[in-house]
Amino acid sequence: MKYYSTNKQAPIADLHKAVVKGLAEDRGLYMPERIKKLPQEFFDNIEKMSFQEIAYTVANAFFGEDVDADALHDIVYDTLSFDCPVVKVKDNIYTLELFHGPTLAFKDVGARFMARLLQYFIRQERKGANLNKSQEVNVLVATSGDTGSAVANGFLGVEGIHVYVLYPKGKVSPIQECQFTTLGKNITAIEVDGVFDDCQALVKNAFMDAELNSHMKLTSANSINVARFLPQAFYYFNAYARMKALGKADNLVMCVPSGNFGNICAALFGHEMGLPVKRFIAANNANDIFFKYLQTGKYEPKPSKQTLANAMDVGDPSNFARIYDLYGQSHERISALISGATYSDDDIRQTMRQCYDETQYILDPHGACGYQALADGLHEDEIGVFCETAHPAKFKEKVDEIIGIDVEIPERLAAFMRGQKQSVPMTKDFSDFKAYLMEQ
Ligand SMILES: *Cc1c(COP(=O)(O)O)cnc(C)c1O
Repeated sequence: MKYYSTNKQAPIADLHKAVVKGLAEDRGLYMPERIKKLPQEFFDNIEKMSFQEIAYTVANAFFGEDVDADALHDIVYDTLSFDCPVVKVKDNIYTLELFHGPTLAFKDVGARFMARLLQYFIRQERKGANLNKSQEVNVLVATSGDTGSAVANGFLGVEGIHVYVLYPKGKVSPIQECQFTTLGKNITAIEVDGVFDDCQALVKNAFMDAELNSHMKLTSANSINVARFLPQAFYYFNAYARMKALGKADNLVMCVPSGNFGNICAALFGHEMGLPVKRFIAANNANDIFFKYLQTGKYEPKPSKQTLANAMDVGDPSNFARIYDLYGQSHERISALISGATYSDDDIRQTMRQCYDETQYILDPHGACGYQALADGLHEDEIGVFCETAHPAKFKEKVDEIIGIDVEIPERLAAFMRGQKQSVPMTKDFSDFKAYLMEQ
């Protein structure tokens, strides 16, 4: 499979290059040249297949031309060492629980897949090259919370790869922070005096800096990376399969709490492959850039606002470029398939309380946006599935206070909280970040 850039000014890349480079030379995002339709028999029998079997079929459509079948099988099965179940919340509203992985958020799926795919490529390279034992690969990742922990844990201990996690000082919950600042080994946490968009700018600038790139091999692991975002399609197919088994898969509406729009973009790719979802809802917090775009046809990025659902505090969602490209830049096509919703912190609080009172289901602030968008937007003949993108215990202080409960902390999270925090302080000036990397 070949990958082109959404900006159309960069050379076509193969999968290996698209994964290692992350962002194309023209700052565009890589898109697969073709999206294969999956055969009707697959959908006819999907409810009899396991999550891993479904995922392997989807992975094969994306990556089968570029990765050995056995290796791809291992990568998929190893990535999905945990389930992504569908759980009923009430009447016509179901949740796709994406928090059963090691760091309790959906980003585990993409991060674990990418780490294993990158390792596969590094091993291939080493087999071929008896020249210079190819340099260490450095993964740079900007995080507003959950990306950092998922990537750091996905890559922890993977030989030949060093990970730098950039996060905004004071804007990440202590529970999120401990999941990438306590790991040590090949993981370095960098605490940036700024907001998430500053962290993202530092990473983007690093990739564009010629001197830095000749000094060290850099790669991105943000949701822009094709190896991270495409595997997120796996669990949408699984959700469909599980809903079909319940006889509830006609008129399915998929609702995705969205920030950088990688997760929903993967769902849309799934739709292009034939996934029978009727329509999609992108649920936003107060960062309503996409919501406004749907209404006006104008995409106007703004500085991000800090909200309760902080992993969605994005003022210029990177993957918008992919959605725009996927639908031929047509506002009409985009708004026909996807609708939007936007919620203030007060709305989120109210939703979390109300949902708990009515159903006993504990929403985290991100999932709350998804749940509410279905509660507000579902038609009578529709069934909605929203992504619960993180475990409520990841936002324990907030959730306990809002709902008035004591959320139980899963042991895998408690283990992080016992660790020792270590991070490198950094300004938001690129020159400082560059100087630091040049010393490594
Ligand atoms: C990253 C994240 C989101 C937003 O996902 P995008 O792919 O950036 O749209 C939503 N909820 C949680 C908990 C997250 O970590």
